[in-house]
Order: sequence, then C-alpha cells, then structure tokens
Amino acid sequence: MDKPYLKLFPNEEGYFGKFGGAFLPPQLIEQFKKIEQAYLTIGNSHNFIMELRDIRKHYQGRPTPVYYAKRLSEYVGGARIYLKREDLNHTGAHKLNHCMGEALLAKYLGKKKLIAETGAGQHGVALATAAAYFGLECEIHMGEVDIKKEHPNVTRMKILGAKVVPVGFGGKTLKEAVDSAFDAYLKDPDNSIYAIGSVVGPHPFPKMVRDFQSVVGFEARDQFLEMTGNLPDNLVACVGGGSNAMGLFSAFIDDPCEMYGVEPAGTGAKLGEHAASLTYGSEGVLHGFNSIMLKNEDGSPAAVHSIASGLDYPSVGPEHAHLNSIHRTKVATANDKETIQAFYDLSHYEGIIPALESAHAVAFAMKLAKEKPYESILVNLSGRGDKDIDFVVENYPPENY
Ligand SMILES: *Cc1c(COP(=O)(O)O)cnc(C)c1O
Repeated sequence: MDKPYLKLFPNEEGYFGKFGGAFLPPQLIEQFKKIEQAYLTIGNSHNFIMELRDIRKHYQGRPTPVYYAKRLSEYVGGARIYLKREDLNHTGAHKLNHCMGEALLAKYLGKKKLIAETGAGQHGVALATAAAYFGLECEIHMGEVDIKKEHPNVTRMKILGAKVVPVGFGGKTLKEAVDSAFDAYLKDPDNSIYAIGSVVGPHPFPKMVRDFQSVVGFEARDQFLEMTGNLPDNLVACVGGGSNAMGLFSAFIDDPCEMYGVEPAGTGAKLGEHAASLTYGSEGVLHGFNSIMLKNEDGSPAAVHSIASGLDYPSVGPEHAHLNSIHRTKVATANDKETIQAFYDLSHYEGIIPALESAHAVAFAMKLAKEKPYESILVNLSGRGDKDIDFVVENYPPENY
C-alpha cells in the first residue's frame, strides 16, 4: 500500500513536487539541518506528543467546536455553512497551534530564546504567549512602519514580556523584519531558534508548521462526521502564507472533498492592488523557498495590498503551490468589499465577529453556497475580529451595512 499523503510530502529535501526546498546562506545550512533532525526525532517521541496534547487541551482550550451557522446559511439560501471555530483558540486565532509546537521543540532542544519577525503583530503575540508559557526569552523584529500601525499588538507583546526590536531600514515593514530577524538568529544560533509564522520559509518549516496546524483538520474531520454522519463536501480557508488552510486541508487530502484556498483580491487586479499570489503570480524563490510569487519586472517581490494585514504576503507556502498545480486544491478570491460585507453579515446573523483574514473565507463560502445549494461547506474561521474593529468602524461605518 502507498504511504498516505502526509508521509510522502514533502520529500527528504523538503520538496512538494517542484516547490519548497531550502535556499539558505551557507552559515545557516547546518542549523536548519539540525532543526529538521530534531523535529524528526523529538517531534515523533512519545513524551513530546503527550506534552503537546496536554497543552492543546488544558492551555489552549482545544478542541475548538465545529458550529453549524444556521442563520447565515438560511440568509444566503444555499449550501449549509459550518465554521471551525479557531477564533475560540487561546489568543483568538489559529497561530498559537504552531507557536506552541515550535516553542516546545525549542524547550526540548535546550534553547533559551525564540526569535521571529512579525508584520501585523499576530505571529509576534502568539509567539510571545508561547515564550511566556515555557519561560523562554522572546525577541520579535518588526518594521517601524508596522509598529506605528499595529500599536495594540506591540503593547500586547511587551506585556507578555517579549522584546520588540524596531527595524528602521528599507521599507521598514515585513520584508526588512525578516532580514533583521535572520541576522539576529545568525549571531546566536546555538541558544536561539527562529520560529517562522506560517507554512513558508526554508525546509523543514513548511512541513513542521503544517503538522502542528493539522490538529485543526483532524479535530474538524471527527467533529463533522459525528455531527452529520458525512464528510463535508467543500472546505474553505483564507490563504496568506497558508497555515490555517493547510491545517484544515491536511486531514482531508485523501478524502473526496473539494478544497478552496481564498486569496485576497484587494481593490483590483493590478500589481500592488491585491495579494493573490497563486491567482496572478509566477514561480520564484523568496525567503528561502521556491513557490509562486508576485514579482516586479526585475524579479523583486512586488508590493501587495489587502485590508487583512495577515494576508499581505507576496508569496504562498510551497505546499499550496504544489496542490494547486496538481489541481487537488482550487484557488478562489474575495475582494476587500466582499470581505467587509461578510464581516458584517457574520456579525449580524451569528453574533460572531471574524478577523478580516477569516472574513475572506466567509465571503467566498457565501458565494459558493449559492452555486452548490445541496452541499455542505466547512469554513476555517481562523481568528476573531477584535483586533480589526477600530479599523472597520472608521473606514466602513456600521450604519452603511
Ligand atoms: C495570520 C493570520 C492568517 C493568515 O495566515 P495563514 O498562515 O495563511 O493562515 C489568517 N487568519 C488569521 C486570523 C491570522 O491571524
């Protein structure tokens, strides 16, 4: 019998088909090999698995429910829409699922410090939470532009005891923060570990982060079967780097379910107006892995836009590029306008305020529901919207919706 998909992909070099790999400066090759070896041995040990399961249950509050969104489904008048409630995971989003895994691995390796970059601050907050739990130091690199924009998250990280390092060169945003965090890691790779925030980066991170997030899909598969006696016909998740989507999809890849990754179509189809990498991009290497990316004519990463800052990334995890290229997953989009409408619809009809990232998935699910009236749709509601309410109320006042 063939091995199941999750054991076959990625291969030993970290490739999903032609996508993935590890494009690293020579000084880091050895370090990433060590992380891979540690993950394969420690990560598969009984103690590690038991400790992580205990954390999931007693600290994170897992399993999160699967919920039938009855009023929203009736309002749309089509398929039944179900939500996997990652907004109810501790810290209010799915990101803690992989941060706790990465930090637990750091603990087993005897590391003292977690280092990472953050854009909007969501990954920084989740990692700072994990660091507090394990008693590790935490250093988060963040562009000065983002520090100004995302002040509440900066405050959260500081309250949690993390050191926030302002990055003041270049565009002073996410890309420079990645460079700065890599430099910091290079200076002290023995005592620290770089903790990537999605299914991106050099091997083994796309695999590790997927495996840590797969708890979402495996829980949801059991819950949905128990609730309905069937598997969902369709799965829908938003895609920035792609971790919440891979978390959901990974448990269903060998099942007869249609899977839709929803990219942010922003305000238009021109470069700079969206962050829909798989929809409009082409093959290229960015941040140490080969995937599909949005490039300028000279090959440099393009500027991107989305109202959801967590989806604002000019590339996508290599596994999504692969699954899309073999047509196992489908790429869908939701634009800013549809997303804001879905944000209000879910709030009004269900009393659930979604993160703007997750509202992209809800927006597409509402379109799909009309096309497939007799089917079921399971949406990964990746996070709650508390972080977005000031922005939404200022720019899209509730009176208009
Ligand atoms: C960061 C974030 C995302 C996007 O990241 P993925 O790796 O694509 O999942 C989606 N939803 C929420 C709530 C986030 O915080």
